[in-house]
Amino acid sequence: MTYFPAESRYDQVPYRRLGRSGLKLPAVSLGLWHNFGDDKPFETQRAVLRRAFDLGVTHFDLANNYGPPAGSAETNFGRHLREDFAAYRDEIIVSSKAGHLMWGGPYGEWGSRKYLTASLDQSLQRMGLDYVDIFYSHRFDPETPLEETMSALDAAVRAGKALYVGVSNYSAAQTLEAARILRELGTPMVINQPNYNIFDRWIETPDSSGSSLLAVLKDEGIGSIAYSPLAQGVLTDRYLEGVPAGSRAAVGHFLKESALTEQKMTAVRALNEIAAGRGQSLAEMAVAWVLREQNDGGVTSALVGASSVAQLEANLAGVRNLEFSNEEIAAIDAASED
Ligand code: NDP
Repeated sequence: MTYFPAESRYDQVPYRRLGRSGLKLPAVSLGLWHNFGDDKPFETQRAVLRRAFDLGVTHFDLANNYGPPAGSAETNFGRHLREDFAAYRDEIIVSSKAGHLMWGGPYGEWGSRKYLTASLDQSLQRMGLDYVDIFYSHRFDPETPLEETMSALDAAVRAGKALYVGVSNYSAAQTLEAARILRELGTPMVINQPNYNIFDRWIETPDSSGSSLLAVLKDEGIGSIAYSPLAQGVLTDRYLEGVPAGSRAAVGHFLKESALTEQKMTAVRALNEIAAGRGQSLAEMAVAWVLREQNDGGVTSALVGASSVAQLEANLAGVRNLEFSNEEIAAIDAASED
């Protein structure tokens, strides 16, 4: 059936400026790492994408290797774009990345210009796009000069294949250096994509640069998008009564059931209580915490995953209350301490 997006779509979720760039992202963005490969029904994917767009989610995050099999999330997303969103390309922010293993031999992963350039061309072909809105270096390459990796990002922009560039999983020190190189090349780094959630707060801790990643981003005017804000589903009610069949922990590839220790689940239950006290579900509170006002805009967007329309809706509801009292922040800190 022909898809007509909801007219109300831009009244649903706030749009937040990405650092000092001209680009705004929805407070909640949708990632296609899981749930959009060839292992998932195309109709479920379609329902989630349509609902997301209807709810104002304008940003969809991909990478060369998302699937399974690797590449299939981009191929499937390309078909969704053609069939449902062709008329709305200018209302959508598509990102992709290269860095992890995509093909065999010395040119199929990490950060060489050879690999990044070929991978972006392949991603564009799979998605049927002329350009992506954001292209990322997916991980820091300790063996390739950072100048080479950054100049490949700069070249992608100059070739019209990407509008903006960013990095993912780079430390504060690596981000500072990458941002300096990009600035000199004339293509600013607009975004950083780290993992960040109530249980995993590494971006708040200073590293060898003397600053935390959050502080570097703020100083440099770079925006950020926090991936796995729900700790892959642990920060929801998904595992409160055990491990449901078909859940990410049951599949066990990226989230192991062994990670759901008694200690972790005690923390999850305590956090669930705190959320209830705020009138939120745990998923809502986890999304809101990443975006909280105390972070002073440090996190522009929460990058969630969803295996169903219901999950997506639940996560988006988190933006309704981003205010936390000092007592709530302290209680969350205490409940989530190792
Ligand atoms: P989340 O922490 O949001 O976890 C999503 C998973 O949690 C869902 O697939 C689902 O799992 C479960 N879930 C989601 N919402 C709910 C809910 N309301 N109630 C119960 N369970 C829920 O994020 P992801 O780990 O999926 O990562 C999000 C995106 O971030 C990725 O798609 C990707 O774009 C990006 N990313 C980037 C990385 C990088 O290196 N740059 C690495 C990892 C992710 P279930 O299958 O059990 O239903």
